[in-house]
Amino acid sequence: MNTYLIHIKGLVQGVGFRPFVYRIATELGLIGEVENRNDGVFIKINCDENALSHFIDIIKKTAPPASGIESIDTIETKFQNFPDFRIVKSNTVSNRVTEVSPDIAVCKDCLEDMKRQSNRIDYPFINCTNCGPRFTIIKDLPYDREKTTMKEFIMCDDCRSEYTNVLDRRFHAQPTACSVCGPEYTLHYQDESIKGISEILNTLSRLFHEQKIIAIKGIGGFFLACDATNEDAVLRLRKLKNREGKPFAVMFSSLEKTKEYAHIDEIEEKLLTSLKRPIVLLNSIKQLAPSVCVGFETIGAMLPYMPLHYLLFEALKLDAIVLTSGNLSDEPIITNNETALSILTNVADAVVTYNRDIYNRADDSVAVVVNKKERISRRSRGYAPSPVNLNSNVEGILATGAELVNCFAIGKYDQAILSQHIGDLKNMETYEFYCESIDRYKRLFRFEPQMVVSDLHPDYLSTRYAIDSKLPHIKVQHHHAHIASCMAENGLSEPVIGVSFDGTGLGDDNNIWGGEFLICDLKNYQRFSHFDYIPMPGGDKVSDEPWRMAVSHLYQYFGTGFIDLGLPFLKNTNPASLAMLCQAIDKKINTPLTSSSGRLFDSVAALINLCPVSKFHAEAPMRLESVIDKSVEQAYSFEINDTIKFEATFKAILKDIKNNIPVSVISAKFHNTIIAVVVEMVNRMKTESGINKVIFSGGTFQNKYLLERVETKLTNQGFNVVSHKKVPTNDGGIALGQLVIAAANNAG
Ligand code: ZN
Ligand code: ZN
Ligand code: FE
Repeated sequence: MNTYLIHIKGLVQGVGFRPFVYRIATELGLIGEVENRNDGVFIKINCDENALSHFIDIIKKTAPPASGIESIDTIETKFQNFPDFRIVKSNTVSNRVTEVSPDIAVCKDCLEDMKRQSNRIDYPFINCTNCGPRFTIIKDLPYDREKTTMKEFIMCDDCRSEYTNVLDRRFHAQPTACSVCGPEYTLHYQDESIKGISEILNTLSRLFHEQKIIAIKGIGGFFLACDATNEDAVLRLRKLKNREGKPFAVMFSSLEKTKEYAHIDEIEEKLLTSLKRPIVLLNSIKQLAPSVCVGFETIGAMLPYMPLHYLLFEALKLDAIVLTSGNLSDEPIITNNETALSILTNVADAVVTYNRDIYNRADDSVAVVVNKKERISRRSRGYAPSPVNLNSNVEGILATGAELVNCFAIGKYDQAILSQHIGDLKNMETYEFYCESIDRYKRLFRFEPQMVVSDLHPDYLSTRYAIDSKLPHIKVQHHHAHIASCMAENGLSEPVIGVSFDGTGLGDDNNIWGGEFLICDLKNYQRFSHFDYIPMPGGDKVSDEPWRMAVSHLYQYFGTGFIDLGLPFLKNTNPASLAMLCQAIDKKINTPLTSSSGRLFDSVAALINLCPVSKFHAEAPMRLESVIDKSVEQAYSFEINDTIKFEATFKAILKDIKNNIPVSVISAKFHNTIIAVVVEMVNRMKTESGINKVIFSGGTFQNKYLLERVETKLTNQGFNVVSHKKVPTNDGGIALGQLVIAAANNAG
């Protein structure tokens, strides 16, 4: 008989791990102790080697559903005698912190308890160690009730006896509550404040059926909801929220109902029903109200994740509700009751609040399955602030991220902690949210930055933040950061072929990059090739007005002759102003050069008159992807010299337009062209460098058609292809890349 010390790292706190260990040990008749420390769970156990491996085996195989074991290390330690097996009091020993659990969807057991436990019948704040709010209510560590926004709710005797019973599912469930002692909802409708869950549900049911819009407080913020099958209601929400063209996410009543409206494969089903409950982009097969998806073939779907959602669908008997962020345009999602009651009432007919504060804001996360793998594109509720494990030490580095789709990251030893989705920093409220969140991460994770790293772009607010910190400051090129982000996520540091496609990022030649082929490691990059430079007439205006890019391409390749072609997308544009635009290009007036792939997709979407004017970020490429005729295998020609030129491509598209070839075919041929460019260029890079590892990163790879095919083609040619899964391929992943590049360069 020996004493063994077992150290378990990963997501093991706030998820019922110690009582789980206690139960196994006592069932096996083993003696010893289990303890929570900042950096994980420590178990001391007396047994022989066989019993030890059996014990660890059971831990691995039956770990609590919300936990995530990263590693289990065992050493034999000085023999110690124990009277029994016990849970010992938490110890704070270092600045190393254990993982902070993201929020977890309500579990099956709690849903059952909600129908049978007398103090929790239809009680919508039910939770246990396997489920419930976490990150959104945590103010500080260690994770104890006093450090959460549950602090002001004093546990009743029943809740306390569960909380202190090691054999109970609610043992040390910090947010545990019941109808006697816990938070409650209030429905604010007209001048009434309605309390009592059954009264609230009855009224809500009536309001939804009367096509009303309801603001509902969720886990990480307020949401706006209405009947997703009712066109009048959805259209009204669209108008009031001033959101013209962007699809709304919906929550379906059940998995079965989701299957009526969308195609779901095995992986998508797993993701939809996972405890993280992200919005999953699915191919729709049956339409809800037309204004939900506004012409897109995909639908952002999620399943209920709060007890209230389940109660609501029981009462409503609707297939699906729209559930969109409760905010105005680009502002962050509203978390505060008073703000919701004063601002959201401009849109909502009624507001549902509850009396527990949301401390950390979190939007719904968004994921899509490509080549049978989950790809996260907005990382927030259910995911943040789970760390990304790295091979290098990034301690003390703050990465300030990009600007439009911002997340920041902090370095703790060999882990990167990425913030939840922050948003567009140019919005003042979002920038405040950014600064406040950095401060909160510093406190929560015991983090004091020694160094900052930002984008190369001097005007990004995230770069300014880095400058203002007065700390040693490293600047990182945007597309190098994209590739490094994907490398870090996948544990790579050796030289790779990087294909970085996105909308915009400042290059080291002061042009705007975005169609980049790099050979790089974590320290340096070499720009192997890129899409041909094209002027952006009107500068920043081009992102809202893709037709400007089409004009620029046409002028570059064919001179002013295109003006007289009678192209449908220019039907309403005055020829004189087109000529002026061309003159501005000649004189280089507000026409910065770009190699952006996003702008190229914009240009084609405008040229075929699919999206000459864009109503939301990246609408043109999204529309272009959504019309693809997948049976088309042909591609257009292109030219590779020092750079990649699309003159032949545009010539052929013009011909196809003239011949009335459908946009679905043109779009497919264009996508196939880009795929061919990537395959050709990557092969050239391999020949020259001998590198066989290919990384894809950048917002353009949110395009499922593109990613699916470039991955498959290059894999079939024997390349080792690596892309994003846990970290967004868009600018939400930039901070991770900045962090590892700074660490690599700092290490010398
Ligand atoms: Zn539960
Ligand atoms: Zn209670
Ligand atoms: Fe980018």
